Amino acid sequence: MATMACCLKVDVDTHDGMRDGVPRLLEAFKAFGVRATFFLAFGPDNAGKAIWNVFRQKGFLRKMLRTGAPKLYGWRTILSGTLLPARLIAAKFPNLVRRIADEGHEVGVHAWDHRLWQDRLDRLTPGQIEEQFARAFEAFERILGCRPHAVAAPAWYATPASLQVQDALGLEYASDIRGGPPGYPVLGGYRSTTLQIPTTQPCLEELLALGQRDLEDCGEAVLRPQAESAPLVVPLHAEVEGGLYHPFLTRLLERIRQSALSVLTLRELAARLMSAAVAPSTLAVRLQPVPGRAGLVLAPEHGAGICRGVGV
Ligand SMILES: [Zn+2]
Repeated sequence: MATMACCLKVDVDTHDGMRDGVPRLLEAFKAFGVRATFFLAFGPDNAGKAIWNVFRQKGFLRKMLRTGAPKLYGWRTILSGTLLPARLIAAKFPNLVRRIADEGHEVGVHAWDHRLWQDRLDRLTPGQIEEQFARAFEAFERILGCRPHAVAAPAWYATPASLQVQDALGLEYASDIRGGPPGYPVLGGYRSTTLQIPTTQPCLEELLALGQRDLEDCGEAVLRPQAESAPLVVPLHAEVEGGLYHPFLTRLLERIRQSALSVLTLRELAARLMSAAVAPSTLAVRLQPVPGRAGLVLAPEHGAGICRGVGV
């Protein structure tokens, strides 16, 4: 590759992120002439169930307050699925899903029930995991008229069982891992047959949770290469860069325009990797913590490249 590749990976986790954040992101991408990869949660917005994590997960409340989550997500989202009924996410906005694709972006599946996956995946049976994929795939297909070709696990969380179910879906690639090179993960003795393209860069929310306040420094960290000539996969969230931190995204897109980075969709990157002279190899991964984030994520066993540039 002559120039270094950069992929913009947008996760859409909530009803309001879909309704309000996605149109803002689309406008920004259009203004800068770049195409991104959107991974959509299609099912119920149970974001409010995160509240119950306060009782179960050390560090969650601190993260929520440090990142200004109530301001970032709004109380309606925080209460969604608990005190207020859960609203559907992408399944409720078929025209907007089609608009994403019509404007040249790539669309993949993030989840059916994002919160359920994040909180209870390790307790789901293979049949229940299959059902999570099936419900999201059915909604995707109903709206876009084709089968999904890629998925990205909620919160970069996966188990040997979920990878095994995923392998039966016939995907072009998945993006479930934080850090490290593209490859075929081995987790808990299971070797997955689906190509993984990891997210290589930190999320803005993680940098903020770590106490970084200067958005210029955050932008610099988000685009800092993790390894020579390795493609950058930049995580964005409809609720964050499509919301309160929209100016951060505009600045980030300016930086990308001024750099030697060439913006590709993840699907384009996957196609390049599959046709490269050296095929992607296996990658030993395990669930481990990442700075600035509560909960464990799937990452290379030796932490290769994970969140370097975060400054911790
Ligand atoms: Zn997500």
